[in-house]
Amino acid sequence: MTSPSSLGRFLAVFVLGFWIAACSDSDDSNGQGKADVSITSNFESGNIGRAERAGDAEWDLYLKDDNNDASLPVNWRNWWYIRIRQQGEAQTLTLNLKNRGWNYFYVPVYSYDRLNWFRLDESDVKQVGASETCNSTTQSPVLDDCELSMRLDASLFDGRPLYLARFYPYTYSQLLTFLKTLEGHECVDQSSVGRTAVFQESIPYLTIRCPDGDDSQVVWVHGRTHPAESGSSFVLEGAITRLLDDMEENRNNSRNLAVHIVPMHNVDGVIAGNYRTTPDSLNLEVLWTFDQASLPFLKSDAPLENRLVNEPMRTVSQMFADRSLIALNLHSSNSAPDRPVFAFPHFGDDPDQYSAEEIQLWNDSNRLLNLLKINYDGRIDTTATGGDGFLNAFFPETWWWRTRAETAVAMTVETTYGRAGFPHWVTETNIRELGSSLIQSIYDYRDGVVPETPINLLRSDGQAEPVFAPMDEWDTKH
Ligand SMILES: [Zn+2]
Repeated sequence: MTSPSSLGRFLAVFVLGFWIAACSDSDDSNGQGKADVSITSNFESGNIGRAERAGDAEWDLYLKDDNNDASLPVNWRNWWYIRIRQQGEAQTLTLNLKNRGWNYFYVPVYSYDRLNWFRLDESDVKQVGASETCNSTTQSPVLDDCELSMRLDASLFDGRPLYLARFYPYTYSQLLTFLKTLEGHECVDQSSVGRTAVFQESIPYLTIRCPDGDDSQVVWVHGRTHPAESGSSFVLEGAITRLLDDMEENRNNSRNLAVHIVPMHNVDGVIAGNYRTTPDSLNLEVLWTFDQASLPFLKSDAPLENRLVNEPMRTVSQMFADRSLIALNLHSSNSAPDRPVFAFPHFGDDPDQYSAEEIQLWNDSNRLLNLLKINYDGRIDTTATGGDGFLNAFFPETWWWRTRAETAVAMTVETTYGRAGFPHWVTETNIRELGSSLIQSIYDYRDGVVPETPINLLRSDGQAEPVFAPMDEWDTKH
């Protein structure tokens, strides 16, 4: 596995070659009354299009398309992550975020060390714009006049650089640091599925299985296909920590679980600071391409990362051909602030519309989701029907269905970035707790627990379950 130090050397070369010229903008003409500010993104997962001074202490920030590829959809502009330095006496700054791909209100996060993150005060963030839809909870396709304006109080600047981001970042280096803490554990085997297409970095692969395990429940999980959807990484940290704790204490029959994890599918995209694609502008999520002749393999022209990750998927699938698998694909979705975690179970329960196998998959998927809803205090949004649109595309779930049908309970799970069912803006700890709840739900699922339905969303602020607008993944998922 590549060490963080070699990654650092690589990044230094990458940054010097491309990022400073493309992404940073500092102002050294410090006139009378003007704040002396530099805004840069030349670090791992950093991203901003351009920064333009709009006043003595005011800056306009423009989001960029992944890889500056203007052919990508507008709503793939979402991720930004910057470093702000102020020289001299600190002033209160205003930053106006423009060129946004989504109009949902949110509260950005800040840090001084890129490890400990805090939310800005909500009262210092407002959404402004002429567009009628700017402050609605539905997405507008035209967002050029819908800004997110942030006030950064002078007290935030104490001489250290201030890092500011759309959401809690989770970099490749951070993943490697976390994986290092698992080294030597008797129930963890760490390897790699191979190296990425552009930066030649290792894509880590973990198998969590105790030597005395019997594989009575086999689970596949991969995350970060969309690089900026960092919620998945906190889910995985929480899930892995919980599972290993249980295995050490021999709780919940956990030692009989076998969990196979590719925690960061699109490593290159994460390093580059992309929102949705690889540095080649590939949306890996919809490129698990196969045909009847290639199955169970992907086609030879499928993206390298997908073919690499598909190898252990195939091995796990074939090794446990005689038993039910759970296969989860972790994402994060832009959505209205109160939307909680949700998922994409497939098909439905109508026998006029679906086969017995399709209804079985729907029922099994929802049993797992409803268990998760119970274990995560109701903060899961379930859906009345899933449909079969995924069969017309090449999602990983499409591959699982074609190779395993109802014996692989395969679905995408989406964390969200807002309050996510909590009375406060969601924290990293809240998302790690989702991972722990997921492990409990897998135990319950394995043990045949059938949750009572219907289950009401247990909003801790006592509000009724809101009606949610369409969100991030719909355009590609269904
Ligand atoms: Zn996604």
